[in-house]
Amino acid sequence: MSYARGLRCRKCGQEYPVQPLNLCDFCLSPLEVSYDYKAMARALNREKLARGPLSMWRYRDMLPVEGKEVDIGTGFTPLLKADNLGRELGLDQLYIKNDCLNPTYSFKDRPVSVAATKAREFGFDTLACASTGNLAASVAAHAAKANMKAYVFVPAGVEPGKLVGIAIYKPVLMTVNGSYDDVNRLCTELVQRYDWGFININLRPYYAEGSKTLGYEVAEQLGWRAPDCVVAPAASGLLFTRIWKGLDELSMLGLIEPANTHMYLTQAAGSSPIVNAFHAGTLHVHPVEPNTIAQSVAIGNPADGYYALRVARQSGGGACAVTDEELIAGMKLLAQTEGIFAEAAGGVVVGALRKLAASGVIKRNELTVAFVTGAGPKTQEIVSDIVRPLTVQPSLESFEEVLGARA
Ligand SMILES: *Cc1c(COP(=O)(O)O)cnc(C)c1O
Ligand SMILES: [Zn+2]
Repeated sequence: MSYARGLRCRKCGQEYPVQPLNLCDFCLSPLEVSYDYKAMARALNREKLARGPLSMWRYRDMLPVEGKEVDIGTGFTPLLKADNLGRELGLDQLYIKNDCLNPTYSFKDRPVSVAATKAREFGFDTLACASTGNLAASVAAHAAKANMKAYVFVPAGVEPGKLVGIAIYKPVLMTVNGSYDDVNRLCTELVQRYDWGFININLRPYYAEGSKTLGYEVAEQLGWRAPDCVVAPAASGLLFTRIWKGLDELSMLGLIEPANTHMYLTQAAGSSPIVNAFHAGTLHVHPVEPNTIAQSVAIGNPADGYYALRVARQSGGGACAVTDEELIAGMKLLAQTEGIFAEAAGGVVVGALRKLAASGVIKRNELTVAFVTGAGPKTQEIVSDIVRPLTVQPSLESFEEVLGARA
């Protein structure tokens, strides 16, 4: 049983029954799942949650699902105390939420597992999505597990390393000549013609909810408390809003003290419409033409930009953009201090963390959690200059000669 009561328009409040629907018929604003929080609060406590499976499904009662989960083993990823990186940046209580360690190597498995579960409940036999790369891999994997068909659409310029990680699950893989925003526009047309569950379009309200588990997990892993600061990447902005919603719900349900977390949003400078709006002091996001190597977070016209801005503002947080050079340095620094090889989005987070700490926006003693959302092996090309092996003959002599030459 789920405590979801229906869908509600985030702007005009119009209510709808639970169904595959993303936008309000009246004002075209995004719909959001609404819950019976009173009943949920009565049913939940820390002890009960802690006894759940070591996956995101330990929070099943806080998600809008009724049927059996489409579960590929997602969630309950490590929250690591990052002492080496913290020392480097001047932060005494820095933690990394390492969401590279999901089955398809990004946090997308969280939202997709909820949306795929819902798709099956609604009777769809086909999953689909518009993706910058990681979402397509996750959708294809979940379709495989659920015995469903999958059609996934990515920009033709997607990193080659990502294509294998999608195709291996055997979806129908379409590369579209255009940017992600073009892909998204195409899929918005397709959703009206084909009876498919588009994970991030007609199933978007359910997709959104899966990412709340990142907020829940971090609070539980910190011993049931919210961090002082969060630094997380934004493409559409949805993930960022849901980390906050997860923390907010826990406090509303009395499972943690009222959350007073400052939420910092980061984007690559070559695709930073949300950060631009933050610094311009407006809630209106002007679309941009993305130009960055951080392709997984390169969305020029972010669907949830407005809501992400509101979270950054209202939480007393901020927004920060980093150049491609800075994000590459961030990837290398994270690997070389903490042993975590993240993709470009992780480099964006570390680059932003460095700036926010250096400028004193995030203070040394604040408990800060940085969200690393995707794994490095998918975007190896951008740091391949790091490979400079020493070549030796298989003899002691040769080894010592080369070693000597190096010194
Ligand atoms: C999709 C993605 C994001 C951003 O997600 P949004 O919800 O669209 O903001 C961040 N990091 C990685 C690795 C992603 O794949
Ligand atoms: Zn409305």
